[in-house]
Amino acid sequence: MGARADYVTRPRELIAAVLRREPRFLSAAEIHDRLKGEDSRVSLSTVYRTLDRLRAKGEVTERTDLEGEAAFMICEPAHHHHHAICGECGRVEDVDCTAMEQFADSLRALHGFELDGHAMEFFGRCRACR
Ligand SMILES: [Zn+2]
Ligand SMILES: [Zn+2]
Ligand SMILES: [Zn+2]
Repeated sequence: MGARADYVTRPRELIAAVLRREPRFLSAAEIHDRLKGEDSRVSLSTVYRTLDRLRAKGEVTERTDLEGEAAFMICEPAHHHHHAICGECGRVEDVDCTAMEQFADSLRALHGFELDGHAMEFFGRCRACR
């Protein structure tokens, strides 16, 4: 059982390792490129299939950019937060959400709107690219 289980989990571990190494969203093709650089034999279709599975389990976050391309990242799912994405290098910073509490209050006061959830991203340049 051991050897076979290793064989099954391996692409998943390789892909997770690539994602963990870089704090940015990577497309399936970019992940596949990184894996080729490491001389692994994971095919692009395996990358897609594995990403699908990881996403279904909530282990990766998927994001679709303005061109409609999907990209993936590993981040802390237990902790609600937002992403500040660098337009130069693609680096993603996790941003705390405390400021939204005041916004929800004013939404309720001004519009009578009860907020159930929200999605937000921030764009700009990171410390290194500024
Ligand atoms: Zn995150
Ligand atoms: Zn940057
Ligand atoms: Zn939030």
